[in-house]
Amino acid sequence: MIEVTSLKKSFDNVEVLKSIDFTVNKGEVVCLIGPSGSGKTTLLRCLNLLETPDAGTIAIGNSRVSFNSILKKREIKEIRQYSGMVFQGFHLFPHKTVIENLVTAPITVKKDNKTTVKQKSEQLLEKVGMSEHKNKYPDALSGGQQQRAAIARALVMEPEVMLFDEPTSALDPQLVREVLKVIEALANEGQTMVIVTHEMNFAKRIADKILFMDEGYIVEQGEGNQVITKPQNHRTKEFLSLLE
Ligand code: ATP
Repeated sequence: MIEVTSLKKSFDNVEVLKSIDFTVNKGEVVCLIGPSGSGKTTLLRCLNLLETPDAGTIAIGNSRVSFNSILKKREIKEIRQYSGMVFQGFHLFPHKTVIENLVTAPITVKKDNKTTVKQKSEQLLEKVGMSEHKNKYPDALSGGQQQRAAIARALVMEPEVMLFDEPTSALDPQLVREVLKVIEALANEGQTMVIVTHEMNFAKRIADKILFMDEGYIVEQGEGNQVITKPQNHRTKEFLSLLE
């Protein structure tokens, strides 16, 4: 489903991703964990080309892009169609209602049938427990409600893989659970996902695979339970011990 090879990315001559290799299989939930500044968000953003890597390759679905030459618009579009992104800060369109937030992209970008899109959007809002709020504007919603709407908005594009960038870190503690429950339900349905998270218990419960990042490298990866309960690398051990 996703194969990342020798991926590198620098900002202002600082190498943030030093050489990243990993794979995500169809139906797998992969959690990216690691200290602040280790490159997790940058890696996730590279997966749908919100950041352009400097070198390496990314293959998603049937597309493969190498970053040794300038990217073509077609390649960017192709890669992006495979993934749906959910951000820490929700990023709903503030001037659109919840339902309008969902229907806009499928109708304008994919040119899908309006009635079908509306039906699908309503089903997704039901699924994330947001039906009763569908005609509200984002500023009338709690953070948890906004994030659940943002998840439904990403899902309506039917992405092969969902990318979550610290989806609960901007939420008050009492709202975290409702969002994690929605993500967990998606995992149980076999949705392929890559999730940057600081919620270790959640990662342990949900992840098929955990990638531990440190200073621009994936220094340890393995089954969820194993990396968190029996870390092998000294950096992983140190990181986890600081959270206890
Ligand atoms: P956190 O857990 O705090 O979100 P992270 O592991 O997700 O951290 P990144 O956000 O990927 O880390 O950042 C890695 C490094 O890259 C940081 O030093 C950050 O300052 C730098 N960085 C990220 N984006 C940019 C940018 N657009 N321009 C310059 N530097 C950047």
